Amino acid sequence: MVRGKTALVTGGAGFIGSHLVDRLIEEEYRVVVVDNLSTGKLKNLNAAATLHHIDITDPMVGEVFQREQPDLVFHLAAQASVGQSMRDPVKDCEINVLGTLRLLEASRHCGIEKFIFASSGGTLYGDPESNPCSEDHPIVPISPYGMSKHQGELQLDLYRRLHLMRYTALRYGNVYGPRQDPQGEAGVIAIFSQAMLEKEQPRIFGDGEQSRDFIYVDDVVEANISAIGRGDGMALNIGTGQGTSINSVYHILQGITGYEWPAAHGPARVSDVYQIYLDNTKAIEEMGWTPQASLEEGLLRTVESIDQSIKANR
Ligand code: NAD
Repeated sequence: MVRGKTALVTGGAGFIGSHLVDRLIEEEYRVVVVDNLSTGKLKNLNAAATLHHIDITDPMVGEVFQREQPDLVFHLAAQASVGQSMRDPVKDCEINVLGTLRLLEASRHCGIEKFIFASSGGTLYGDPESNPCSEDHPIVPISPYGMSKHQGELQLDLYRRLHLMRYTALRYGNVYGPRQDPQGEAGVIAIFSQAMLEKEQPRIFGDGEQSRDFIYVDDVVEANISAIGRGDGMALNIGTGQGTSINSVYHILQGITGYEWPAAHGPARVSDVYQIYLDNTKAIEEMGWTPQASLEEGLLRTVESIDQSIKANR
């Protein structure tokens, strides 16, 4: 059905983007990736995809679009770290706001069918008044990253009004799974899993009772696939609807890895939301999407993949 269509994935060498690229290739899309490899890795990238090694803020991006003529754009490239956005909010804005605008301009000039955006349900609502947090909750981010994702969404809606561009913004919860970088500062599951497997003591920021909506990467990929034909002009929460504390994740991972020791504790991070989980009713109703992986299943698959890469690197 989709043979001959081109999907352009920004951030396609990254954690979530590389899984999406694999899935689109399975669906027989011609896949083009735009990535500057700042956090993405070539080893993640499907050999059947065409890579343009370029920054999304580079004016030459427009030429890449003209050459490749994408039908669909999945925009996942971002400065994706809350901590980094606190240290350098201007850079965060350049990549996440101006970079997104450049892609929207490039998309408009080649008449794409739809633009699907990786937004962040875990950060743009700030500390929610109640959970599960629905899309109607006020947008009061407490980090430049949460703000820049919101600005990205506002730009999409402007392009819908000005240029009739079809879009869906997917507000992910805390995504985890194979290929998440355990060396990063975000991605608590990858970080804990690697540390426990290496018998190094993981560190919890704050009391560990902060909760998150942990969603397995395959479910996020399926939400992107569902958004190709549905959810037009909407921002939709992509989460499980369940909150899990960092302490609970720690205990489940202890069970899987056999790591017996307690965590070290450090001070809480100011820009971290304390408790959030996402009401996913709208995504279920509007896109017919539902998350499939249980937390235990997803954690097991994640630990197995990190274990394999530790062994392969020995
Ligand atoms: P990631 O860091 O693994 O992937 C980001 C990719 O974008 C990398 O391949 C990186 O090299 C590329 N990139 C970064 N800046 C770029 C630039 N200026 N130009 C071109 N390429 C650039 O992160 P991820 O976890 O896979 O996140 C993917 C998207 O999902 C991001 O937009 C992120 O904000 C969003 N998101 C992630 C989570 C999560 O829990 N991981 C939650 C909410 C939203």
